[in-house]
Amino acid sequence: MTETVFCYCCRVHHEKKQMRLFPTRQGQRWRCLRSIEAATSSRRERDAFGQKQSEINRETARRAAEFGLLLRQVQPIAS
Ligand SMILES: [Zn+2]
Repeated sequence: MTETVFCYCCRVHHEKKQMRLFPTRQGQRWRCLRSIEAATSSRRERDAFGQKQSEINRETARRAAEFGLLLRQVQPIAS
């Protein structure tokens, strides 16, 4: 029979070859590769999202500054 280990993440038993010891605050716990990979890829996506968001913020700030500059240049002519 195949050896199984209880996965603390999924709360089910998986085949031992899919399991890795994972460091947690409570110490080393058995966790399956699939749940580790899922957590890692979602963190990567979050990082990518955060990076994209700060790029957008920078771009918005830059455009706002340019727009403000433009307004200051236009106003003396208009008045
Ligand atoms: Zn699992």
